[in-house]
Amino acid sequence: MAKKTVADVDVKGKKVLMRVDFNVPLDGSKITDDRRIAQALPTIKSVIERGGRLILMSHLGRPKGGPEPKYSLKPVASRLSELLGKDVKFANDCIGPEVEQLANSLKDGDVLLLENLRFHKGEEKNDPQFSAQLAGLGDVYVNDAFGTAHREHASTFGVPQLMQGKPRVIGFLIQKELKFLGEAVSNPKRPFVAILGGAKVSDKINVIEQLLTKADTLLIGGAMAYTFFLAQGKEVGKSLVERDKVELAKGLLARASGKIKLPIDNVISDQMTDDAKTSIVEGNIPADKEGFDIGPKTREAYKAEIAKAKTIIWNGPMGVFEKKPFAEGTRAVAQAVADATAKNGAVSIIGGGDSAAAVEQMHLADKVSHVSTGGGASLEFLENGHFSTIDILD
Ligand code: AMP
Repeated sequence: MAKKTVADVDVKGKKVLMRVDFNVPLDGSKITDDRRIAQALPTIKSVIERGGRLILMSHLGRPKGGPEPKYSLKPVASRLSELLGKDVKFANDCIGPEVEQLANSLKDGDVLLLENLRFHKGEEKNDPQFSAQLAGLGDVYVNDAFGTAHREHASTFGVPQLMQGKPRVIGFLIQKELKFLGEAVSNPKRPFVAILGGAKVSDKINVIEQLLTKADTLLIGGAMAYTFFLAQGKEVGKSLVERDKVELAKGLLARASGKIKLPIDNVISDQMTDDAKTSIVEGNIPADKEGFDIGPKTREAYKAEIAKAKTIIWNGPMGVFEKKPFAEGTRAVAQAVADATAKNGAVSIIGGGDSAAAVEQMHLADKVSHVSTGGGASLEFLENGHFSTIDILD
């Protein structure tokens, strides 16, 4: 269902309470990658340029439910101020009388950033009292934090529930994510090729189930492939596997009617290091070795499938791409996805997390249709096709 966005709300003179994802990587108090802040700018600017009084809330890192200076959002306020070219006020907490006073003293076009939501246990517990205090700050609710849209936390669920009767809308970042992921799920151009990799089958089991009903082909790489190898009765040596998921993998293969493609060959070694000595094997992996990447024949086979695709979704690297000897499979797939986008007009979606990091590293992020800002969120969207946190918005 089409959702109203912040553009549909008259925000002039209103206190706009906006959930953003400012969970940026920090080195001390230095922000090492400010993309998450930059991605929220269109929605932020739309509010302040139209005279809204903006109150931003976010989490950062994984504090244990109380204030921890290393997870303070204060450095983010400075960076946001630089990016906007205007003052950004900062509140030392996210609830309480001081915050209320700051919120009430905002003028049209002002910006206030609240301290880390997760300094209160109530955020992740979706505590009603905590939610009520946050909800009391705003006249309008906006969610533009795609990365946490799959979590029913106070700021993403309890607050908009309590703000019923007031405008509650999505921002432009979530709008874009829903457009790409939603169309891929509900109305994909075919052939639809899904590429899944990474460490564990268990993390992606539900999404594999779903994609089996929607995609035409599923290309499997990463350590995940070796649990499927076990299901086929192949030997995997010391490779990372989940033995308790072998039966599940057997069931998936039985139901897949040939849609699931597994590696033909693998790059193996006895160590996962930057100077590891590697070799290539087809089929079984020797007892004293581990599989760390898809091999050259698999790369070619996967490239050929990707080249034919009109819709591509990729989540999870094809190998231990962080280490040079095992990065080639992921690189080849990234290049193939970029090529299919340019040459075959494919809609290509990178599902956040490590595959997004790989595509950025290889300078291919602007050669694909969409790089999702939420790894877990995009997987959950592919699985369920909607989010309860978005369903409750206008
Ligand atoms: P995920 O978060 O499930 O997407 O997993 C990503 C991680 O899986 C990356 O850190 C990769 O290094 C790791 N990975 C991918 N392939 C393998 C493999 N064959 N063996 C061990 N780890 C792997």
